[in-house]
Amino acid sequence: MPHQTYARAVCLPGFCLLVAIASAFVSAQTSPPWLDSYREPASRIAAAATSNSDAWQRLAELTDTFGNRLSGSPQLQAAIEWAAAEMKKDGLENVHTEPAMVPHWVRGDEHAEIVTPTLQSLVMLGLGNSVGTPPAGVQAAILVVKNFDDLDRHSREAVGRIVVFNVPFTNYGETVVYRSDGPSRAARAGAVAMLLRSVGPPGLRTPHTGVLRYADDAPRIPAAAITTEDADQLQRMQDRGTSVVVRLVMGAQMLPDVESANVVGELVGRERPEEVVVVSGHSDSWDVGRGAMDDGGGCVVSWEALRVLKRLNLRPRRTIRVVLFVNEENGTRGGMAYRDRHTAELANHVLMLESDSGPFRPVGFGFSGNDRARELVTQIATLLSPIGADRIGQGGGGTDIGPAVQAGKLPAMSLNVDGTRYFLFHHTQADTVDKLDPADMSRCVAAIAVMAYVVADMPERLPK
Ligand SMILES: [Zn+2]
Repeated sequence: MPHQTYARAVCLPGFCLLVAIASAFVSAQTSPPWLDSYREPASRIAAAATSNSDAWQRLAELTDTFGNRLSGSPQLQAAIEWAAAEMKKDGLENVHTEPAMVPHWVRGDEHAEIVTPTLQSLVMLGLGNSVGTPPAGVQAAILVVKNFDDLDRHSREAVGRIVVFNVPFTNYGETVVYRSDGPSRAARAGAVAMLLRSVGPPGLRTPHTGVLRYADDAPRIPAAAITTEDADQLQRMQDRGTSVVVRLVMGAQMLPDVESANVVGELVGRERPEEVVVVSGHSDSWDVGRGAMDDGGGCVVSWEALRVLKRLNLRPRRTIRVVLFVNEENGTRGGMAYRDRHTAELANHVLMLESDSGPFRPVGFGFSGNDRARELVTQIATLLSPIGADRIGQGGGGTDIGPAVQAGKLPAMSLNVDGTRYFLFHHTQADTVDKLDPADMSRCVAAIAVMAYVVADMPERLPK
């Protein structure tokens, strides 16, 4: 108890009462009586979750067996069926799949190279949902720009060229707009294709894919990510006045939608089973790497949270439901299908929590909701201080839970982790399980299990 230590340390004559009152105030703020009854189960949950490497082992099995899992792929379908079967074996209740139609984009063969002044390969990955090129590719002089304003200033030079957005990574939210909107911005200026400096910090010449968003009022041009190293090279060549011609060949195409599914399992509440706390991740990934941190890991730690509670025979007052959403990466169809299927039930959703930042060392949760709800989850989070996951920040939510959260005006949470390394691997060939620490993953399980259990069990329903 840090505040008690503090009280002793500064308890000089004349100040004791003041400090004692301040200490009691802090205590009342952080430790209401109802919370005390959860100290013992919380420490039991944390001990059980962190006593093994089950989450990491299960993620390794998932990613080794099925590989990456793009929407519409047979690998994803097999992984979904496996997850439902494993949840049943775990003894989760009401395990089932809920259908959702998903887009079926395929990458095809692709490559890019500098052809003038000399032939040199570029390391690239087509952006998700991009159109392909003609079989012979698109070949044109490049125009490297540093941001959208720079493109606007040079828009006349963009006509007939391949526009290269060389935008250094600051943070994901700021930089990703060049991936999503860059292709249509370049197309409006008359570009024939777009290349993007990968959205991530400099790595080992590793390109990062991700979805683009074509605007309705612009021609659809092929778009790909190149590495930070190659983007810098193109920049240097342009700055030197070298005229550079690049060829881009992409076999990408969008096939008809495919039926896929969200996977759902429950721990049914003992008193108010109709009231639901959702914990979740997304089952699909990009078609590179193994989709370990994005988001096989989020699925597994959410799912393991229910398994730990089940193993400890902790059945909360309300239902805890795990949902493995489909198609986060290039459509959010799973999130929309969940909202549509559960519309009538959304009033009974108490909280939705998503884990989609990689199962690294957990530091707490982001939360969006009203002040009273924030106060309650902040109090609950103090139970997680032994594992360092007690911080409640702003902005909880997730792409998959977004549609239901908005429709039901629900409190939303995201698992927050030490994200130092996440964007190094995000959407790359390097998203593999070996980057993740079993102990960190176990702590993620503990954090989700304790938060979900107490919210599902506490006498007062988390207010909307
Ligand atoms: Zn994700």
